Amino acid sequence: MQSINKEELKEKLRETKNFLKDERVITANRLKGKIIGILRDFLKEKGFVELLPVVASPVTDPLSSPETTVSFNVYGYPFQLTKSMIFHKQFAMLAFERIFIFSPNFRIEKKEMAKTGRHLVEFTQFDLEVRGATRKEVMELAEEMIIGLVTRIIDEAKDEMEFFERKLKMPIRPFKVVTYSEAYSKFGKDLEARLSQSSEGHIWLIDFPEKIREFYYLEGERTFYLKDFDLIYPEGFGEAISGGKREWRAEKIRERLKRKRINEDLYSPYLIMLEQGIPPSAGFGIGIERLTRFIAGLESVKFCRLFPKLPGEFGL
Ligand code: ASP
Ligand code: MG
Repeated sequence: MQSINKEELKEKLRETKNFLKDERVITANRLKGKIIGILRDFLKEKGFVELLPVVASPVTDPLSSPETTVSFNVYGYPFQLTKSMIFHKQFAMLAFERIFIFSPNFRIEKKEMAKTGRHLVEFTQFDLEVRGATRKEVMELAEEMIIGLVTRIIDEAKDEMEFFERKLKMPIRPFKVVTYSEAYSKFGKDLEARLSQSSEGHIWLIDFPEKIREFYYLEGERTFYLKDFDLIYPEGFGEAISGGKREWRAEKIRERLKRKRINEDLYSPYLIMLEQGIPPSAGFGIGIERLTRFIAGLESVKFCRLFPKLPGEFGL
């Protein structure tokens, strides 16, 4: 295991100390607190129940690379650090109809991702899920939430917005919608960045191909295309939200795992829960540091956490 020597550690912690006194960091984190309060108010008013996060458990979101999961042994049981609470959100539908969580996500991203301005190894996802909801319903909820947030932030975070010299435009509903296939034929592989750079407003990217997406979304009308979405920020800020309607039938997930050549034993706790029955649902997750970065117009998410851990770098 690579380790850090005392001299290096001293130097890094001096940087940390300066970072903690940086006005940009202080202001961005104060702003983040206001954003969290507004999001919480919004969902509480709609009857959502707030849950507390699961930090580690026997199964977590595979995301794009299952090999970057942090695994360890607890009393002989294999545990994993939460990459996202997707499966627990679905299981929680047995208890409640509408839930949300400010959930810590831990993802070992590739080192190159340190430069994107959008990636942290540890971040907070504002995660919500609604039993029996359609994709359209949760997309509309997200639009209303973002408009509500911008409206209140302009009013309640005047000092912070002035400090960052940020003039936020009020997003206009309904947000534009583009399918993944349309975006791909226009922009090619780099579609997310190009959509974000070329768009005046927030834009929905929907119907991802099963091949490039996590296995838990429901298939749409078109075979092998999903009833899912990403929301893309304008002005080049990139991805805001991922979500969609979930597949809740074990046999369908098994077929998909086979097509994706993923060993189903890795997801036994999830598959067994599905076999024993969970309700259909839809939901999404929005990264709080990315949201704060967008609201403040910052170049990097690192200013939006007091103790940022950038991919490949030391962080306290
Ligand atoms: N689990 C997804 C993610 O972290 C979000 C969601 O589908 O709710 O990207
Ligand atoms: Mg995503």
